[in-house]
Amino acid sequence: MAEQPVGEQPHGQWARAREVFASARRVTALTGAGVSTASGIPDFRGPQGVWTRNPESQRLTDISAYVADPEVRKLAWQRRLTHPAWDAAPGLAHRALAELDQAGRLGALITQNIDELHQQSGVGTDRIVELHGTLFATICLDCGATGSMRAALARVGDGEEDPPCRACGGILKSRTVSFGESLDPDILRAAQRAALNCDVFLAAGTSLTVAPASALAELSVRAGAHLIICNAEPTPYDALATAVLGGALEEVLPALVAEPFEPDAAPLRTYGDPGTWS
Ligand code: NAD
Ligand code: ZN
Repeated sequence: MAEQPVGEQPHGQWARAREVFASARRVTALTGAGVSTASGIPDFRGPQGVWTRNPESQRLTDISAYVADPEVRKLAWQRRLTHPAWDAAPGLAHRALAELDQAGRLGALITQNIDELHQQSGVGTDRIVELHGTLFATICLDCGATGSMRAALARVGDGEEDPPCRACGGILKSRTVSFGESLDPDILRAAQRAALNCDVFLAAGTSLTVAPASALAELSVRAGAHLIICNAEPTPYDALATAVLGGALEEVLPALVAEPFEPDAAPLRTYGDPGTWS
């Protein structure tokens, strides 16, 4: 049992996190780009984030710019070709969540990431809710046909700067949710159900600034769960949290998961009613 706070946590935060986490029978995790920075994939809004360093690159994730401007698409294909996700491996933060899953305590893992590192770490795919899609597949914006990203990137490598859909000639993109696009309603519902049905909602490595992902934390608290936020920077939901843990996730998550499980330390609770969310 870690008697000392991990890193330089503010007074009382580690003890509170440890107490509610140790007795949590079912944890729903929401992860963001911060769980993958140690694997070499930069986040968007952190101090070394892609947008922090180059605000112009935000345009590449805007759906209307992507549809209207072939130059944006060409640049987006080049970024996909050289994306760090192709060579990345799960890190200690991913592995800690996989361990929690193996212990049977991870109800669901909602991720905003598109890098499939949680799948690679061994978390059961039926527990993973990919809110913002995946980089590993393509979708045609015209006919909806989906395909393999590796196959599309092979075409880019062969000289097609903006490969069109093979079925209809339409615009192809990664099967990810861009700004200006809505989330798949079934996927959002699955995430809401997971937020309602847990003892602890663990938000890790996310700035909690992208709705509706961020609103899941509040939904979970309203349904009676404890919110634990693990992030290097403050988030707008910190005041709602039972505990806020700063510092590096690679250190914080393994320490939290290593806490001995004490299921009898908290009373059984009834989870949120799926009929109450809209
Ligand atoms: P974000 O960039 O808004 O926030 C990431 C947060 O993680 C920041 O507050 C940062 O301080 C924190 N952080 C970074 N490294 C950390 C570490 N090692 N330990 C602790 N905290 C750390 O990311 P977001 O909230 O996930 O939203 C950005 C959007 O961009 C998402 O919608 C996602 O789809 C997409 N995105 C995905 C990836 C990926 O798949 N790996 C990478 C970049 C962006
Ligand atoms: Zn098509």
